[in-house]
Amino acid sequence: MTLHPGRLVLLGHPVAHSLSPIFQQAALQSAGMALRYEALDVRADELPGLVKILKSQRAAGNVTIPHKQAVAALCDRLTPTAERTGAVNTFWFAEDRLCGDNTDVIGFDRLVQSLALPAVPQRVLLLGAGGAAAAVCETVRSWDGPKVSIWSRSRSSAEGLARRFDACATIVSDLSSAAASADLIVNATPVGLRDDALPLPIDSMRRDAAVTDLVYRRGETPWVLASRAAGHPAVDGLVMLLEQGIAAFRRWFHREPDRAAMWAALKDAAR
Ligand code: NAP
Repeated sequence: MTLHPGRLVLLGHPVAHSLSPIFQQAALQSAGMALRYEALDVRADELPGLVKILKSQRAAGNVTIPHKQAVAALCDRLTPTAERTGAVNTFWFAEDRLCGDNTDVIGFDRLVQSLALPAVPQRVLLLGAGGAAAAVCETVRSWDGPKVSIWSRSRSSAEGLARRFDACATIVSDLSSAAASADLIVNATPVGLRDDALPLPIDSMRRDAAVTDLVYRRGETPWVLASRAAGHPAVDGLVMLLEQGIAAFRRWFHREPDRAAMWAALKDAAR
């Protein structure tokens, strides 16, 4: 018999801004489950102790900035996806073992699908080299053929990510030529989250390049709005947030959540 989690939590620092409690709670309510999805603001040094408590409570949940790599290191079992990205955004306990998955990977795949592009993008330009960028690399690897070029303001983190995904990834040496040739450009930096800066100038992108901004905010991001105005297919990270949450819910409860209720809650909070 599969037991449901005794507690559902989000681990991060900070976590107050997260929309996960809003749309996961909508799914729990729709499923008639009495659980409350709690956002826990946790410092890095508190994580190992908290994991022991969560184990005794048969908890499950999500992980966000900056703990995805640290939780991966604490896990007893990782899915192949979490192993390849080195990051965990979804955890649960099975037979007292801490298990981790990375559902940002399927989330990004679904985000690209939402653009309904005529073909799978072959040349992806990835801006940023943190946890979300690792999930993007894993998605591109799963497409089996396309290549990803990684640009990051710190060359060493781009090099580290390119080494991890050496079969499909390289680092960018010349940003303008990478931008001019990419058919999909991904922002995996926080640029545009709290400011109106663009992660890449619109006129540097190929005219038909598709744009995915992992950042989301009320009224969409400046980069998505400017890209769309210039004729690019463009989408922000809200669908990715929804899809990673749906995949996490499946992991915890072995059933489909109410997608419509989750999306309605998310749109209400973020659009
Ligand atoms: P992260 O691990 O902290 O990585 C951030 C990356 O962006 C690093 O490469 C960092 O470079 C770079 N960066 C930070 N500030 C920058 C700036 N001002 N200019 C240029 N590069 C900068 O964060 P993450 O988890 O990958 O998340 C990145 C973004 O994606 C966040 O805004 C997050 O909200 C979003 N995200 C969205 C979803 C979703 O479901 N839609 C899921 C995950 C993440 P350094 O190493 O040099 O600092």
